[in-house]
Amino acid sequence: MRVLKFGGSSLADADRFLRAAQIIANNAQQENISVVLSAPGKTTNKLVAVIESAQNIGEAELQINELESSFHRLYQDIQAELPDIKADAFDETVRQSMSQLRSYVHGIGLLGACPEHVNARIISKGERISIQLMKAVLEAKGHDVSLIDPVKYLRANGSYLEAMVDVDASTENFRREPLPQNHVHIMPGFTAGNPKGELVCLGRNGSDYSAAVLAACLRAECCEIWTDVDGVYNCDPRLVNDARLLKSLSYQEAMELSYFGASVLHPKTIAPIARFQIPCLIKNSFNPQGVGTLIGQDTGEDQLPIKGITTLNDLTMVNVSGPGMKGMVGMASRVFGSMSAAGVSIVLITQSSSEYSISFCIESQDKEKAKRALSEAFELELKDGLLEPVDFMDDLAIVTLVGDGMRTARGIASQFFSSLAEVHVNIVAIAQGSSERAISAVIPEDKISEAIKACHENLFNSKHYLDVFVVGVGGVGGELIDQINRQQEKLASKDIVIRVCGLANSKGCLLDAEGLPLDNWRQRLQEGATESFSLARLIALVQRNHIINPVLVDCTSSEVIANQYVDFLNAGFHVVTPNKRANTASMAYYQQLRQVSRNSRRKLMYETTVGAGLPVIENLQNLIAAGDELERFNGILSGSLSFIFGKLDEGLTLSQATQVAKDKGFTEPDPRDDLSGMDVARKLLILAREAGMKLELSDIDIDQALPPGFDVSGSVDEFMERLPQADDYFASLYAKAASEGKVLRYVGEIADGRCRVCIAQVSEDNPMFKIKDGENALAFYSRYYQPIPLVLRGYGAGTEVTAAGVFADVMRTLGWKLGV
Ligand code: ADP
Ligand code: ASP
Ligand code: MG
Repeated sequence: MRVLKFGGSSLADADRFLRAAQIIANNAQQENISVVLSAPGKTTNKLVAVIESAQNIGEAELQINELESSFHRLYQDIQAELPDIKADAFDETVRQSMSQLRSYVHGIGLLGACPEHVNARIISKGERISIQLMKAVLEAKGHDVSLIDPVKYLRANGSYLEAMVDVDASTENFRREPLPQNHVHIMPGFTAGNPKGELVCLGRNGSDYSAAVLAACLRAECCEIWTDVDGVYNCDPRLVNDARLLKSLSYQEAMELSYFGASVLHPKTIAPIARFQIPCLIKNSFNPQGVGTLIGQDTGEDQLPIKGITTLNDLTMVNVSGPGMKGMVGMASRVFGSMSAAGVSIVLITQSSSEYSISFCIESQDKEKAKRALSEAFELELKDGLLEPVDFMDDLAIVTLVGDGMRTARGIASQFFSSLAEVHVNIVAIAQGSSERAISAVIPEDKISEAIKACHENLFNSKHYLDVFVVGVGGVGGELIDQINRQQEKLASKDIVIRVCGLANSKGCLLDAEGLPLDNWRQRLQEGATESFSLARLIALVQRNHIINPVLVDCTSSEVIANQYVDFLNAGFHVVTPNKRANTASMAYYQQLRQVSRNSRRKLMYETTVGAGLPVIENLQNLIAAGDELERFNGILSGSLSFIFGKLDEGLTLSQATQVAKDKGFTEPDPRDDLSGMDVARKLLILAREAGMKLELSDIDIDQALPPGFDVSGSVDEFMERLPQADDYFASLYAKAASEGKVLRYVGEIADGRCRVCIAQVSEDNPMFKIKDGENALAFYSRYYQPIPLVLRGYGAGTEVTAAGVFADVMRTLGWKLGV
């Protein structure tokens, strides 16, 4: 014997109903089966609404009419596919149910309240209609069908709305009056009978439990729960796109998952089947071929330490505290006793070790009941000040990790909590069951989405998403987007997804939280970008879509954007930039950026501000972190000046060399930007600050790469025309250097706590001697690296290498996850 249960989602319309019927028919051909059915679709919710309307003089009659016609529509749609179906019993049930419902509504209206036993009868009507319709469908398909009356067979105790089934007594009922052989048995879910023979309900979503107790009573070989998803996933598939289907789960794991919110299974379902070791299979009625999830004795072949993450919403935390609590024997029992007497169920408990307070979570709907119960139970203590007024914190949720293997695995709790911290989730309380099978954190409800996504990414080796917003899409920015586009496939093989969610230039921006299509992005930006870029718009988009890893990539040279990095970091963005403005702004802003980055656990990455793609900053940071100290530095930090001064070696004049560099696109559009030495000064300042020196840009001595006092006024053309006047000065400088076997180089130097940018005469033994053609070279003389310095050299400019460096920084925002 197997028991098959179909949930409301599998019976919501004619197509689904007939699919369920077909699955039943196929199974019935192979062996004896019993079927448990929920109400079609959202019928139970609608019946609950009818009760509310009846109490509040709402439109109950209208709602009943709508329900009635929805049942008839369902029948007609089924009849269109199955003309042989007989309507009589179904019609009669609908007619009777609806007329009874109308009389109840009338009674409730007069009473102004709905007694629980009436409530139970009303909300269970949908199940009765489902079974009549399924019986008619299966009979039309030629099956013998008999109905099981749960009020007669399933003996239950407890309240009218949340009863528990006594499996032993119920088993006895089935022994006494066995079900007919070779029939398909159909039982309405959600209800049972109390010792007085009255109908009781088993709690919302309770049809899963009905199936489990029926399977237990019949000692079935298997209990199958047919629903609208392929099985149990490691998180709610509605919250996480790439939630993973679990092949198997232990009974205990399934119990914890369902208790803490995985609505695919009612928490009461597991106990009866676990008692008789009946396997439970969760299957999809839309995909009967799928393997589903098997719940059994052990954790099964998945062997994962963590099986799933769940969430429970709409919770309130109650905090009972006060000086009188310390050592007061029986305090906890009085607190929890009062809750139990008031019918308030406690979801989670934490206690501080000082015994000064007890905190626990309840469902928010029970808050008023709990308030009343506590103030009655502790009236005297509250009056005497032994207890502080009871504190209630609303709008909370619980996130729980579940897995048998957590008992032996290390570091899971720390990963769990750091994942929550990563997305700025403030943990209100923590609880771990003694079984070590579940760890829970109480968090603000509005952070659920972020919390689940971050835990899923970090704890399940699942895909890591980087959502990038590129501001400034000229040379470097544009190349970066092209590189991202080209790399997608390779990244996908490492489970990394970079989505470009925003593109902005001075004219406007394009945004899409799901990622913009990258083919033809230039044209799209030109045609489609209307609204202007603003910090507020980006923050709103990120918050609305619960994006957990947003990265701002600033490829402008704008001071305005650089001044907003603090706000971006505070809003949860990582910031990646080749723009030197932020790191060369005031020392106060420089320090503030680092502080905010630390506090917000967001990265500020700027490797490409010095030496473009060369790994300069990272190496220097590593040296300093390892206790080394920078004693002296000199380097060629400008690609354009490296080219120009290199050409002097070949006999070109300064003006000729500058013209060639300009023609080849090696200089800024206005070569004065290079020749002024300001760009090199900014790079030098970044290095000096990295090495721990507290300097401002104005502290740097800058000799421009022009004769002293040279006239730099006018347009670019005028300046270029005037530049030959500098040639003699450079020719004589060069001749003097050459007479000593030296060459001229434009260098940045750090020595004796001072920074200087100047034209230097460099001898052959200096690492700068050979540097030309746009190459950069950086020589670090440190406590560990001397007299031979640590030298980094290579192309220090160019769109491709710079964009690749920015790309590498974007990847580094993933931190340790890159190594996964
Ligand atoms: P039924 O009507 O079949 O009883 P439910 O709506 O009660 O179906 O339960 C199925 C739903 O549970 C799924 O559609 C899914 O959205 C939700 N769900 C929540 N958590 C999980 C999970 N971890 N695995 C699978 N489904 C889940
Ligand atoms: N129909 C009931 C409910 O919606 C029981 C169930 O479907 O499990 O709560
Ligand atoms: Mg359900």
